[in-house]
Amino acid sequence: MVASTQIVLASRPEGVPTAANFRTESAELPPPGDGQVLLRTLYLSLDPYMRGRMSAAKSYAAPVEVGAVMVGGTVSEVLESRAPGLSKGDVVQSHSGWQTHQVTRGKGLRVLDPDRAPVSTALGVLGMPGFTAYSGLLRIGRPARGETLVVAAASGPVGSAVGQIARIEGVRAVGVAGGPKKVAYLRDELGFDAAIDHRDPDFAARLREAVPDGIDIYFENVGGAVAEAVYPLLNTYARVPVCGLIADYNTGNAPEEPNRLPAFYSRILTRSLTVRGFIQTEFVDEMYDDFLTDMSGWIAEGRVKYREDVVDGLEQAPEAFMGLLEGRNFGKLLVRVG
Ligand code: NDP
Repeated sequence: MVASTQIVLASRPEGVPTAANFRTESAELPPPGDGQVLLRTLYLSLDPYMRGRMSAAKSYAAPVEVGAVMVGGTVSEVLESRAPGLSKGDVVQSHSGWQTHQVTRGKGLRVLDPDRAPVSTALGVLGMPGFTAYSGLLRIGRPARGETLVVAAASGPVGSAVGQIARIEGVRAVGVAGGPKKVAYLRDELGFDAAIDHRDPDFAARLREAVPDGIDIYFENVGGAVAEAVYPLLNTYARVPVCGLIADYNTGNAPEEPNRLPAFYSRILTRSLTVRGFIQTEFVDEMYDDFLTDMSGWIAEGRVKYREDVVDGLEQAPEAFMGLLEGRNFGKLLVRVG
């Protein structure tokens, strides 16, 4: 018998999550049955969508039940296998959640090649966040040479990939991030054409200066005050892939008063905007293989760089996750579990 240390959802947060919303437990796991594997978690990915899963509100995916293990993407080592195609010692991409071990179906687990790329990248630049950037930008953003793109949360795994892929496509990329360190990183290391701090009291004016030709693509990662500053600068026929609204994840929906919906719709109408939400899974069948090929190539050529923010120990996951919602992470947030 193997014991798994697990972090479960103790209660649903009201507003900002706190440590009291999580509880650590231990569970004895049964030996793997036919077709199953026993996994040991190496890395756990912490992502903004987990805030939505903590809430009972209806969404595109079912909430985590109170008392259940928090969900999450992982990179795990196979300790025991009774599944065809998987052997002890294989490193796989799985969805074990916030726990040290799991017994699960072997079917559908992707085996990673540690010689090809560090296995942690399967949760970031070469995984779901990188694919979100790639699919949302290419399919919905439809970048064209010479255009201008704005993206916020730009030092994170989605935003950093959006900006760098945009530049590969010949687009001028303007990144928005919180604080001088992240802004310097965008400009000096990732090669964004301009980078702006959304905490600057003059943010809206700085943004206007940074986009003299207006904005053709706004890759929406955050909503809130950044979106408010961007919308008046959108050009006719601009595209807005709506990917995430992290500024509102702790507050629920935007305040009802004043009612800005008429002004928003009017802008969509008069500027012929395309505003299109998406969840990356819709594009997986169509373009995941292309993504892996393109992104691996760009990384090898040094055209896409990535940054990971790794915290040690599963017990750190709640605190690190709370920090993610406030921008305390700098790069793809991972927990080194094993
Ligand atoms: P990040 O690692 O970039 O972390 C989130 C960042 O958001 C923080 O570090 C912080 O950066 C920024 N942020 C938080 N609050 C605000 C605010 N009020 N205004 C501006 N920025 C803020 O996250 P990801 O790259 O993993 O995800 C980015 C977005 O993409 C999220 O909204 C996420 O939900 C969404 N997403 C959507 C998917 C889809 O399929 N539609 C799939 C994956 C992600 P800073 O310090 O720079 O402010």
